Amino acid sequence: MPTQEEVRAVFEHMRQNPTDFSAVESPDYSDYLAGSLWRKIKRRVLERDDKTCQSCGGPGSVAHHRSYAQEVMDGNADHLLATVCEGCHALIHFTDQGAKRPSDEWEAVFLETKSQAFPEPHVDLRRNFPPHPATWDRMTAKQKQLWQTSAIALTKEARERKRAKAERRHLSESQRAAVAANLKDGQRAYRKL
Ligand SMILES: [Zn+2]
Ligand SMILES: [Zn+2]
Repeated sequence: MPTQEEVRAVFEHMRQNPTDFSAVESPDYSDYLAGSLWRKIKRRVLERDDKTCQSCGGPGSVAHHRSYAQEVMDGNADHLLATVCEGCHALIHFTDQGAKRPSDEWEAVFLETKSQAFPEPHVDLRRNFPPHPATWDRMTAKQKQLWQTSAIALTKEARERKRAKAERRHLSESQRAAVAANLKDGQRAYRKL
């Protein structure tokens, strides 16, 4: 584990070089992300945002740093942290080609919202994945990313609903079996009287 001093040095470096995010890849940063302070901050931010992606409005589970200033790291500037979904987060940090996006573009991508509407994924559990909408080729990379994120979420939700329903049916079947067994026991006991 790095000392508190070393961690501070990394963050101080980031603070003084706001366009140089290379320090984010240092082992100290991973330690920070694994630490209890960050866990606390992250939970606070996700709760504040009601686990909603602040970029697209979908379900979000990632706390994204809009700044690496010391006060943010210390948990004293939560307004510079935002809940985002995995899809938007990938898009903030990586280009469509999978290359790392320069840090001075992150904020612009974060702020680019889903104002341009796109068709809702049509979930059909007999298929593996909702078919792409007819407008797919005309959709932007961000729209495609958002569509895919919501398609995954909706499919998961539908599967979950189906599973819960099957479980309820299973339960009532076993309950019926139990009632039938009790009845048989009762009849047997009655016959002995
Ligand atoms: Zn999102
Ligand atoms: Zn991020």
